[in-house]
Amino acid sequence: MAGIYIHIPFCKQRCTYCDFYKETESANIQIDVFVDTLINEIQLRKSYLHNENISTVYFGGGTPSILNLNQLKKIFKEIYGNFDVDDDAEITMEANPDDLSIAYFDSLSSLPFNRLSIGVQSFNNYHLKLINRRHDALQAKQAVENARKFGFSNISVDLIYALPGQTLDDWKNQLDEAFKLDIEHISAYGLTYEEGTLLWKQRNKGLVQVVEDEVTLEMFDYMRLKMNENGFDAYEISNYAKPGFRSRHNSAYWQFVPYIGLGPSAHSFDGRSRQWNIASVNEYIHRLPVNEPYNEKEILNEQDFYNDFIMVSLRTSEGIDLIKLKNKFGQEIYNFCMQNTDNQIKYGNLLNENNKLILTEKGIHLANQVIIELMKTD
Ligand code: SF4
Repeated sequence: MAGIYIHIPFCKQRCTYCDFYKETESANIQIDVFVDTLINEIQLRKSYLHNENISTVYFGGGTPSILNLNQLKKIFKEIYGNFDVDDDAEITMEANPDDLSIAYFDSLSSLPFNRLSIGVQSFNNYHLKLINRRHDALQAKQAVENARKFGFSNISVDLIYALPGQTLDDWKNQLDEAFKLDIEHISAYGLTYEEGTLLWKQRNKGLVQVVEDEVTLEMFDYMRLKMNENGFDAYEISNYAKPGFRSRHNSAYWQFVPYIGLGPSAHSFDGRSRQWNIASVNEYIHRLPVNEPYNEKEILNEQDFYNDFIMVSLRTSEGIDLIKLKNKFGQEIYNFCMQNTDNQIKYGNLLNENNKLILTEKGIHLANQVIIELMKTD
């Protein structure tokens, strides 16, 4: 079992908070040339997953919905021609609401996508404008409606809370709007001010009103409560799903299932090492065809693996499986983890339930600190 991630590094415009690798259309890079290079990469790296069958394919970005039917068809032809994709594989497209017109869905209908992850972020037009999203609230709702018309029964919506100047009441409205859409999955992230982004610069100049930590926590707690009341399971700190609709692709990442990442800046994991492609479309399209290096590789040592295991597992509702930890890393590392765990249990941040270490409601607020406490640094 393995996954494929495809990074489509183009956006029509730049959202002020975003630090993902992408180029805007003004960069004047031909998307067709990129697609041809991506196909070349699929052919070159088809053995990376050692013939494992593919259970998930994820088109992320950037903005995958910027691609037209012919470009997507070419990519799928290559994926299906070079990998053994399960009949029931989860195949997701990240999409911007304003791309999801009836005409676009019509053109997609011959493709195997069966899950949509729609970048709504907010239903408040003031906030959408402030963070430079391309769509408005009406387009976001229309996108979900159109997706339903075209038979999508697995729809996820991304939301951001603690947007500049946002109140708890506004966040409550955003959640209400999302629940009204009767979708299967919600990913909700607290806004972060990433260094170098326009939003970060605006904050440093005092041009935006940063939401206080206390209010952000109230938003988070309210969200968890309401998600639960509305039938969404909090299966990871930022991810909520109706029964049977967890993201299989992301869940596989969290269980260390191997995956290949294709396209500029995409990361891959083969069970022992991580690899990442160069974060530049220009370099990618020039280096790959002439066999110049376009990625870097890191062999993970035991400590790296252990730290990743702690970081990823603790964010999930299943927590850290102690039996798995002992089998994977041995008695010594298990003892190290347990020593550090004791204090966290005493402070009420962690619970040990049937050999699973799980963050408590209090611990969830301090997740990053608890994770650091359990990590190995020497
Ligand atoms: S559409 Fe997505 S990837 Fe593109 S700038 Fe906005 S947040 Fe970033």
